[in-house]
Amino acid sequence: MLYKRSSQLFAEAEKVIPGGVNSPVRAFKAVGGTPIFVKSAKGAYLYDEDGNRLIDYINSWGPMILGHAYEPVVNAVIEKAKLGTSFGMPTELETQIAALAVAMVPNIDKIRFVNSGTEACMSAVRLARGFTKKDKIIKFAGCYHGHSDSFLIQAGSGAITFGSPNSPGVTAGTAKDTLLARYNDLENVATLIEANKNEIAAIIVEPVAGNMGCIPPNKGFLEGLRQLCTDNGILLIFDEVMTGFRLAAGGVQELLHVTADIVCFGKVIGGGLPVGAFAAREEIMNYLAPLGPVYQAGTLSGNPLAMAAGLAMLQALDSDRTIFKRLEEKTAYLAAGIDKVLKANDVTFTINTIGSMISVHFDAAPVVDFQTAANGDNETFKKFFHGLLQEGIYIAPSAYETWFITDALTYADLDFTIQAIAKVSKTF
Ligand SMILES: *Cc1c(COP(=O)(O)O)cnc(C)c1O
Repeated sequence: MLYKRSSQLFAEAEKVIPGGVNSPVRAFKAVGGTPIFVKSAKGAYLYDEDGNRLIDYINSWGPMILGHAYEPVVNAVIEKAKLGTSFGMPTELETQIAALAVAMVPNIDKIRFVNSGTEACMSAVRLARGFTKKDKIIKFAGCYHGHSDSFLIQAGSGAITFGSPNSPGVTAGTAKDTLLARYNDLENVATLIEANKNEIAAIIVEPVAGNMGCIPPNKGFLEGLRQLCTDNGILLIFDEVMTGFRLAAGGVQELLHVTADIVCFGKVIGGGLPVGAFAAREEIMNYLAPLGPVYQAGTLSGNPLAMAAGLAMLQALDSDRTIFKRLEEKTAYLAAGIDKVLKANDVTFTINTIGSMISVHFDAAPVVDFQTAANGDNETFKKFFHGLLQEGIYIAPSAYETWFITDALTYADLDFTIQAIAKVSKTF
């Protein structure tokens, strides 16, 4: 396949946009070559500016769980747009989506909408600090919680790919309040808590990690975090920006039966429009302005187009809960297929999956944290990525990313993908 016009468009973009992209993960820096410019997308497919059709395993990095241009979402946005695109005043729509989200997700009474996952996590931490009157937080190496200052400490995918785990511009003062732990290592967390007695406001965690590949929590890890938080007056924040409304209607809290104190959302909750949200029980949420002292605001928060898209998406997921099972079955089918063909070609690899998330790592050892994720062979990944691109299959241009399975993918698409991987991995 040729990607000539995409290359030309990228050259134009580079002149006026840093690196030619508005988010670094879209660049092909880690794999070489130039990004694909998309013209349109429908269902499981992307259509690029060169007229190629690509099977899409990124799905806008998660939101398009029902496939691209899902009609109920598109129609809801079109209808709302005719009535005005932003008011800066309350609308009934905001209450409707809030009520539905609160009904779908366990252990939350109230939810506030923002414009991105970054904003959701940043606000959740401020709320936790205000509520507990403590300053420090614990985050895990390789977990990504958006690009706000306190999280840019070994921050997963984008930051790892570009080798700048600690970004310039984050002050030492901010960094000192973020304590770093190893994912899936409870003892490490307990030690940090002991060394910082009564100073820790929150532990923030991707309850299933998705930004260093897909890394499910070991048995007992989340339960252990819950216990440590309860015992030490620390709030447990589940960053479900990736997993929320994806792994189950109620996210990881529902799937793995662990209770968080604050939950962050993004991606699926906006149906492809810029939406984030954070939610908790009433006592915590009432700490937010205008009811409480913790300030948080947004000119476009609860935007009618974004809320219409999100509501249509949540309604679709709420009304047909079999979708999560269907996605899990497709993921298992794909994983089994890839496993078979990579073994047949003597490739060294590990596949991680949970629900509709899957990642392929080119290393034989189990991938359970940032360190083991970083051991993957990046040269093999580059060949894998470009080989698949030539076959018309688009995965993330980084070895640290999760692939997302959508409802729009057919078993024929999955078979095509497995065959393509069989062909490409012969050349490793
Ligand atoms: C994508 C992501 C974010 C950041 O969301 P943005 O909308 O990109 O700001 C935060 N946390 C997790 C777990 C994510 O996957």
